[in-house]
Amino acid sequence: MRFPLSLYASMTRYLLEKKLRGEERFPLVLMLEPTHRCNLTCSGCGRIREYHKTLHEEMTLEDCLHSVEEAKTPVVTITGGEPLLYGEISSLVEALLARKKHIYFCTNGLLLEEFLPRFQPHSRFTWNIHLDGTEKIHDQIICKEGGFRKALAGLKGAKKGGFRVSTNTTVYRETNVDDLEILFQELTEARVDGILVAPGFSYEDVHQQVFLTRQEIMDKFRRIQTWAKRFPIISNPIYLDFVTGKRFLQCTPWGNPTRNPQGWKSPCYLITDSHYGSFSELMEKTDWEHYVSGKDPRCAQCMVHCGFEPTVVRQMTGKDLLRMIRWNVDV
Ligand code: SF4
Ligand code: SF4
Repeated sequence: MRFPLSLYASMTRYLLEKKLRGEERFPLVLMLEPTHRCNLTCSGCGRIREYHKTLHEEMTLEDCLHSVEEAKTPVVTITGGEPLLYGEISSLVEALLARKKHIYFCTNGLLLEEFLPRFQPHSRFTWNIHLDGTEKIHDQIICKEGGFRKALAGLKGAKKGGFRVSTNTTVYRETNVDDLEILFQELTEARVDGILVAPGFSYEDVHQQVFLTRQEIMDKFRRIQTWAKRFPIISNPIYLDFVTGKRFLQCTPWGNPTRNPQGWKSPCYLITDSHYGSFSELMEKTDWEHYVSGKDPRCAQCMVHCGFEPTVVRQMTGKDLLRMIRWNVDV
């Protein structure tokens, strides 16, 4: 199975509750960034550039837990920065598991081996390790020699220790799809539980030449989509139809809201027009229709998974649901 059954059960229960209450706009996954500090300076990273003046600021553990209570999502992605650098990281994970949350823990993997003894495997906890290519290419992107080997050692150590492990690959303009095929083969042999692959984000604070246009995204993803049965790819098949140009989806910017030391980021994970002090303010004050319409010039080339994967849930038909169930077990 690509995703644990317990995650499907929690998400289905949550969606039914929302439907019964007649709520139209609600989040699915909280993107929690307790710190933006990082031990890398990757060429395509917007976070460390956008927040360079406040990298020293961290959310308190209380703030993190309050944000989780506000958003009420069944899934929390802990990201950053490098969240292993967050002072209260073990307590945060423990507290979220105690609240029955499913956790995806995004890390560049450099510190993973060292930190593994501080965590316990859990069916609702998944390490999500960022790997953008095979050794030479990944090290070039993250601007650190030896980074790939360290992350892979962490990945293998986590698997050996009984953890669920997935990987996250960003596709840039320079990405060679042949290289990704070799990487995904290696990750499949290392028995990763899932491979997430998505186009690079057009962060406002990063040089735009690294990122793909919609046409370039479609060209690269047409081949990647054919690998769904060879490798445990967990990017949603309907989202993959979108990034290959077979289906149109509107953005759902409220689907994966981001909370960081500056507040609730509006409107989405990528672009920042405001930060709000509370989740309800974010939902009430953001002009969602403006961003959903795609008329904002910054949205023109965007196909990012955190904006469009939640749309799969919003626009899902009965046929889509059957396809998703088959896809989850068919690997
Ligand atoms: S590891 Fe992540 S947060 Fe750190 S610089 Fe790279 S992309 Fe940015
Ligand atoms: S399309 Fe959606 S996710 Fe992409 S930049 Fe616009 S609002 Fe953000």
